[in-house]
Parts: sequence; structure tokens; C-alpha cells
Amino acid sequence: MVLDHKCEVCDDRLVVTVCALPLIPYSAGYCLPCLHSGAIPLWAAVANTAMIGGMSNANSMWYEVVHDTLRHLNLTCEQFDALVSDQIERDIAMMQRDLAAQSREPVQESPAHDQEPPFH
Ligand SMILES: [Zn+2]
Repeated sequence: MVLDHKCEVCDDRLVVTVCALPLIPYSAGYCLPCLHSGAIPLWAAVANTAMIGGMSNANSMWYEVVHDTLRHLNLTCEQFDALVSDQIERDIAMMQRDLAAQSREPVQESPAHDQEPPFH
């Protein structure tokens, strides 16, 4: 285990342990104060909240995770909502680019019958 990296929550102190995040399939490196706070890396809180369409769709467990994260990082709900809105806009723009790229791809044509060897 590599522990000479900075904590993924505060990006300040060195990692002392790696553990799974609550409700997200990801493991992060933590310093002790961040581990004890219940906070998760901000990018993970923003990305997961964007995926569910905002905090209005959060269940009580996710609400608690976000609340602990914002309290630990000294962020307001308004600041967090703005980050989530930006993420949702970026996600939608990326999906629209992907769809546009797919529609420009050449259609796979089935092989022409006259190129097949004749039956005998
Ligand atoms: Zn930390």
C-alpha cells in the first residue's frame, strides 16, 4: 500500500489508510482527521449527487454523507449545489457530444451478395 500520497479529502495531510467510501464503489486514501469526520472526497460527492439529479433525490444515507463532507470541508449547501449543477451540465454536454459522434459514424453495411462465392 502506497501511503506517501496526500489525503484525497483534504489534499493536505498524508494518507494513513485507504478505505471504501460509503455508498460508492471506490476506495480513497485518508488522513485520520478526514477519516473520523465521515467526509468523502468532494469530487465523489459532486459526481454521485449529479448522477442522481441533485440533492432533492438523495436518500437519508446520502444526505448524511454529503452533510458530513460539507461540514468537514467548510462548504455551504449553496456552494455544493452550484458544483453539482456544473457537473450535471458537463455530463449532459458530454452525452450530447457522444450521441452526435455516434450519429456521424458510418453505418456498417452488410456484405453485398454478388461478392459471395456462388453456390454449386
Ligand atoms: Zn485529510
